[in-house]
Formats: sequence, C-alpha cells, structure tokens
Amino acid sequence: MNISNDMSPFSIYFSLNNGLSDTKPSLKRMLSQMRGMYADDTAYANQLAQADSLLYEFHELGIPESPGNLAFGTSIVYPGKVGNEYYMTKGHFHTILDTAEVYYCIGGQGLMLMESPEGDWAAEPFTPGRAVYVPGRYAHRSINTGHEPLITFYTFRADAGHDYGTIESKGFRNIVIERDGQPAIITNPKWA
Ligand code: ZN
Repeated sequence: MNISNDMSPFSIYFSLNNGLSDTKPSLKRMLSQMRGMYADDTAYANQLAQADSLLYEFHELGIPESPGNLAFGTSIVYPGKVGNEYYMTKGHFHTILDTAEVYYCIGGQGLMLMESPEGDWAAEPFTPGRAVYVPGRYAHRSINTGHEPLITFYTFRADAGHDYGTIESKGFRNIVIERDGQPAIITNPKWA
C-alpha cells in the first residue's frame, strides 16, 4: 500500500506522430486566447478576423500537486506565424519559482526561449531527440520555427504551479521572428 501520495502506477500512450494521447483529451489554445502576446497587434487582429486557428495544445493529466509527484505530458505547437513572429506557447514562470522542468523533443523544429527575473536569457534548440533543461527561476516558452508540428514531452515537480500572469503583462524580453527565411531573436518591442 502506498501512503506517501495519491498515485498508483500507470502508463499512458502519446503518439510519436502527432504527440496526442489516444485516451486523454488535450487542452487547446486558440489564436483568440493569445491576445496581446504577439508584437504585431495589427497582424493579430487581421488573422483573427480570418480564422480562430489552433496554435497549440497540450496534455495536463491532473496529477495531484504534491512535491513528491511529477507532472508530465506532451505539448504540440503548430507551424505558423502572426505577422513575422512564429507560433508559440504563452509561456510561464513556475509559481514555486525555483523548480525546474525537462522537455524532450519528439518531432519538429523550434526553440525553447527562457529568461530569469534578473534578465538572464537563453534559447535552446528543439530538434527530434534533443532534451532541454529549464532551470528553476526561468520562464519558458516553446516556439515552432519549422514547417511541422513541434512535439515535446515535458515533466516537472507536480506542485510547481503555473504563473502565466507575469508573462501576460510583461512579455518576454525577446521574441523570435522569421527574417530572410530564418529564425531571428530580437528585442521585444512590447516588453514592459
Ligand atoms: Zn513549466
């Protein structure tokens, strides 16, 4: 009998082709849920008037939020841009700031953009087979710079929590745009 937490052993399938589980629903993030997150507000409004596209989805399994548990799942960011800025996740700090996370890329091409409250930042590449370590204290955002879905598997301490509000109000210091057909990291003109 396990009295240390609320978990029993289990397994779950995530497709290596599209990242999705065959038994659990994903959480979907549409263009309309990313208002203000992209640098080009005009391009955002024009694209939203055309269609409310699916930008990314992820699996959140509801593992009980105790410090001995691990939360995990997959994240799928679809290819596309708002203006010249690539599709990306909203990004977040952890509520318990000093908690790390690991992402393992299953498919696609992209970047993990990270920054600390003190202004240290990094962008590590996502390519199939590459793992990215996000240290504690670093906000993190997945960005699809390729032409296929960017599929990653992630795991972090289950009680870490998500602080989306800081990024919603301040943004990241840098953004990733397409310039001459290549990803370029530039200063975010909207950074507060
Ligand atoms: Zn995280």
